[in-house]
Amino acid sequence: MEWIAHLAHAGTLLIVNSMLAAVSSALFFAIRLTGRKAKHTDGLLLLGLSYATFAAGFGALVLPAGLPAHATALSLIGNLTIDAATVLELCAVNAYLRRPLIQPWILVSVALIGAAEIYCLHSGGENLRVMVVFGCTLRGLLTVATGMALWRHADPTARTAARFTAAFHFLWALMLLLRIAWWSIHPLADTSFDPTSKFGLLARMVLTSIITPGFLWMLARKMNAELIRHASQDALTGVANRRVMWEKGESATQEARGRHSPIAVLMIDVDNFKSINDRLGHATGDQVLVAIADTLARHIRSPDVLARVGGEEFMVLIPQGEESVVRDIAERLRRMVERQDILASSGTAVACTVSIGYCISGGAQIEWQKLVGIADQALYAAKRGGRNRVTGTIVA
Ligand code: GH3
Ligand code: MG
Ligand code: MG
Repeated sequence: MEWIAHLAHAGTLLIVNSMLAAVSSALFFAIRLTGRKAKHTDGLLLLGLSYATFAAGFGALVLPAGLPAHATALSLIGNLTIDAATVLELCAVNAYLRRPLIQPWILVSVALIGAAEIYCLHSGGENLRVMVVFGCTLRGLLTVATGMALWRHADPTARTAARFTAAFHFLWALMLLLRIAWWSIHPLADTSFDPTSKFGLLARMVLTSIITPGFLWMLARKMNAELIRHASQDALTGVANRRVMWEKGESATQEARGRHSPIAVLMIDVDNFKSINDRLGHATGDQVLVAIADTLARHIRSPDVLARVGGEEFMVLIPQGEESVVRDIAERLRRMVERQDILASSGTAVACTVSIGYCISGGAQIEWQKLVGIADQALYAAKRGGRNRVTGTIVA
């Protein structure tokens, strides 16, 4: 550690650390203020604030060199500011992960360690060892808690990025442990020469340069997942949209043609839906659509795909659609909607039914568009036949 201490100048390291933290903070604030999607990203403001506080803390630690008369007070202020920044970083990460900002036991431990640090310094005068041991314990605890939250609670879309960022938090905690260990082994060390502090500052420089891109990577993954979700989900009901149905339908028909295996599609249309809207209002109509989508979704199984493809029209793709299975599925879906009692938020109970038309291709060389067209004609036959019924066509 000593040889590293001879390489670098403490003041320069503090200034570089302060600048790096300030740049990170500006980046987080800029993303929060300019990105439309980022506005809904919890924790981004707190992260910006945390890095601004880090910048202020490192900046305050430069000051004792110019104001030796107030050196102890300034170092204490600098260290406590960095402690506060570490607390804010934990809160930011928890807010991002939509968890309680800070666990009570961590808050109590941090307050106790901080108070003990202030008390020891106040009663014993300048004591770098006290500051290192208490300060590093406090920051180590917070850093491990931040790393653990990132490691365990990030959603699958951002997990790799979160674990990468978490790993560097653990490395930083290890560095803090090394500082505590060095000061425990050298209890009588000359406080004017603290090699661990320069080593720590160098490590912190490297870590900020890695942790900040790590956070940006997490944000990018999260926004990417959001975009994909928006592009593939029906906004009202949450089931897949027409685009997904067409993509999956085209590739499934292509595969079925290659294997000469059966494939089927159901066209589902709510009966007399216009009259529900007219009698009970558009908002109740929307609630009915959501309830029907839920019922349909609960009664289909993977690999079948449900999508809302129009106002009150749904489709189900059944990639392994043998005749008896498809008829059963269609009949079950029709029955489940018929039995469902939908309670609108106005308190009105709404009953409704669906008509279903299906087309099964039993290994024929059929195109997706043709399959959909035939199912559509079957649906109209079901409507003409009196509604609330299933009609189908099999293409051999
Ligand atoms: P049919 O049994 O022949 O299918 O009769 P219908 O009344 O269900 O069919 P029609 O095509 O005449 O009316 C469909 C209605 O669905 C008209 C439209 O206002 C309504 N609609 C379409 N999209 C939405 C939506 O997102 N929310 C609500 N509440 N209504 C919608
Ligand atoms: Mg319709
Ligand atoms: Mg209809």
